[in-house]
Amino acid sequence: MSDCIFCKIARHEIPARVLFENDDLFAFHDINPQAPVHIVIIPKVHVENVLSASDEHTGILGKLLRAAAGAATQTGIAETGFRVVLNNGVDGGQSVDHLHVHVLGGRKLAWPPG
Ligand code: AMP
Ligand code: ZN
Repeated sequence: MSDCIFCKIARHEIPARVLFENDDLFAFHDINPQAPVHIVIIPKVHVENVLSASDEHTGILGKLLRAAAGAATQTGIAETGFRVVLNNGVDGGQSVDHLHVHVLGGRKLAWPPG
């Protein structure tokens, strides 16, 4: 997807505050953080969201959650607790149509979310 902003970040065409990168994933600090720690993790492959993911993406879906735990550890919020969020579609609050998980922490998070 040439015009997808997260694909551009994954291709290093748009700068980001990188937390980590590997062959499959790219993790960076959210540009508009909603908590003291707010990381976005994306697969390098373009998948619109979890609804459009298929069996071929099972591996990448698992890697995203494992990476979320790693991001929490790396940013120092693993012990105090954190939230992994995956927004899907309009009512879910998805604003970028490239599959991603948010990792939020560093403060007490309210539940239920608004
Ligand atoms: P969502 O609303 O779940 O689709 O999440 C998209 C997230 O990407 C939002 O929290 C945005 O603040 C974040 N975002 C959008 N553009 C950038 C960017 N260029 N660098 C870092 N984060 C971004
Ligand atoms: Zn994309």
